[in-house]
Amino acid sequence: MKSQLEADMSGESELALARAESLSRHETLFSERASHIKQSAVRDVFELSLDPTLVSLAGGNPYLQSLPLAKLGEMANRLIVEEGMSALQYGSGQGTEELRAQICEVMAEEGITDAHPDNIVITTGSQSAQDVACKVFCNPGDTVLCEDPTYVGALNTFEAYQAKVEPIATDEHGLIPSALTERIAELRQAGANIKFLYTIPNFNNPSGITLAAERRQEIVDICAAENILVLEDNPYGMLRYSGEPIKPLRAGNPNHVIYMGSFSKILAPGLRIGWALVPEHLFRRFYLAAEAVSLCPATLNQMLISEYLKGHDWRGQIDEYRALYSARCEAMLEALDEHMPEGVQYTRPEGGFFIWVTLPEGIDTYSLLAKGIEAGVVFIPGAAFSPHDAPSHRLRLAFSAVPEEKIREGVRRLAPVLERAIAE
Ligand code: PMP
Repeated sequence: MKSQLEADMSGESELALARAESLSRHETLFSERASHIKQSAVRDVFELSLDPTLVSLAGGNPYLQSLPLAKLGEMANRLIVEEGMSALQYGSGQGTEELRAQICEVMAEEGITDAHPDNIVITTGSQSAQDVACKVFCNPGDTVLCEDPTYVGALNTFEAYQAKVEPIATDEHGLIPSALTERIAELRQAGANIKFLYTIPNFNNPSGITLAAERRQEIVDICAAENILVLEDNPYGMLRYSGEPIKPLRAGNPNHVIYMGSFSKILAPGLRIGWALVPEHLFRRFYLAAEAVSLCPATLNQMLISEYLKGHDWRGQIDEYRALYSARCEAMLEALDEHMPEGVQYTRPEGGFFIWVTLPEGIDTYSLLAKGIEAGVVFIPGAAFSPHDAPSHRLRLAFSAVPEEKIREGVRRLAPVLERAIAE
């Protein structure tokens, strides 16, 4: 006969087994969509950024040290103490009227002068504007076009909505219009239902490349003729530090372009405030979808940004950011010029956070990551910036968050890793 203890234990283990079985049955409840949601290939690499022995050229974090923190603190304090009844309350699903009007001023700096606050939806970062766009336009199996390479966060969103993502060829002047036309024809021939072209025209993440002025209207015209919307993502546009400013695709094209902006790079990403400027005839659906996601964007954060825009020289702050990133970009380019072995090419961005490095074909930069870490430097392999993580002989270096001396050290550490890979 079993002792009481043994009986209890076997009872417990049966219970534990039953519990485990019932939990594993939960997996059958996942939506089809959930299987398309993947961990960003970049996340593991970001965690390495915390290791002080490594130089991380991986994360494209803004450098916040130059922000007027005490002033922002006073503003936040005043808003809570004196205006807490509205600052801590639910607000409009579209965002506050005051901030939407100010966003029109921000966009005017880059040449969008006809925006109306009624056509703006404030979102939880521009990331969530991308999500809303997919919610509104994409059925599973629909096609979205993007630049090759493109932003990993957008790819993850498109794939989570089960869209087929089609990268379009780019060169040193950005998306190639003839490649766009050809690919649209091929895709249409194959029965694709193409919804939009997602583009990062200024200082692309990851490539740092800017779409040439003379290509911009042509690209909008190609898409308009094909009934394909343009989703213009421009979080870095104001961080130009050389060359002539170029107007966004949205300027002069109010009906075909959904424009997405963000305070993440010109103020602070932790506030999670971005926006979409949506053509009037598409606005209602877009706005209702955004409201269904979050009820309303964070009221306190919107009010804080309004205070900041009114009470601080925000243009001066952007100038400071620009000077800082420009110096870091220069430091990285100088170090690359000095240390990179033959056969390695890299972009020379006029703004933004990133440099895109190309190795000879056949080298998969994912396989170099561990060797880079051994050498004390972290980067993001190019595969992260193509749909389905297609192997890539390119890699992204970010200079935004690292002081110049460390940038130089990081590039010094990277050079022999690449040299060995080329020699093998
Ligand atoms: N678009 C691009 C091209 C980005 O690089 C990023 C962030 N790195 C985002 C959108 C998301 O920005 P936000 O913080 O506004 O959600």
